[in-house]
Amino acid sequence: APGLYIVATPIGNLSDLSPHAADVLSKADMIAVEDSRVTAKLLAHIGVRKSMTPYHDHNADKVRPDLIARMAGEAVALVSDAGTPLISDPGFKLVRDARAAGRAVHTVAGPCAAIAALTLAGLPTDRFLFMGFLPAKAGARASALAEIAAVRATLVFYESGPRLHAALAAMAEGLGDREAAVSREISKKFEETVTGTLSELAARYADAPPKGEIVVVVGPPGEPEAASEADLDAALKGALERLSVSRA
Ligand code: SAM
Repeated sequence: APGLYIVATPIGNLSDLSPHAADVLSKADMIAVEDSRVTAKLLAHIGVRKSMTPYHDHNADKVRPDLIARMAGEAVALVSDAGTPLISDPGFKLVRDARAAGRAVHTVAGPCAAIAALTLAGLPTDRFLFMGFLPAKAGARASALAEIAAVRATLVFYESGPRLHAALAAMAEGLGDREAAVSREISKKFEETVTGTLSELAARYADAPPKGEIVVVVGPPGEPEAASEADLDAALKGALERLSVSRA
């Protein structure tokens, strides 16, 4: 059926491409892609030959109206190089404009590095804040961290190897020395998850920047000193005593 199909693709292991995703890609009239060389490999893996049109940060504004027009009569799929489109990847404006034009919008849910890392970290998942990539410059990074230091949620960051040490050190400084996990190369040959406090992890990655793709998951801030049951009892007792005194 015509419309827009947001299709998640593997973040490493090609077998993670779902049968639903393969079906939608094989039936699409056109596939909008970040990098046609990357998507060509995926399509070859499922035996699909298809016309691809580039859709990335540098040409999106220009090609978007044409894609929206084509969705009236054609099935247009959007994929990114890896994982779920729109998540630290292009696509949000395409969905926004497709909706505004009354086109059907479908999603084929699948791999996402942020969610995969949350499942590996062993940190609370009931509330999390996805932060994408922190700014590269130290000042802007510190401000971004200061802005979220009080948020009572697990935090998820995308990072690169060369920046990992500086980012972890800045997090330890700006967020406090919380429990954290560094997941690297998820679903690939050299997959690894290292856990520890932010300062321990910063020390571990101080010498040699790790290779590959990285997600940092940081636990929520520590609970403020909780009032003990004995404290509550004493407070209640005091209040009751004052009540009876004032009644008398
Ligand atoms: N849209 C993608 C998704 O759904 O995860 C993310 C795109 S973003 C441009 C790429 C970043 O995602 C990488 O720099 C890395 O931080 C993270 N990432 C992607 N694949 C990963 C993997 N296999 N292991 C760890 N992190 C990964």
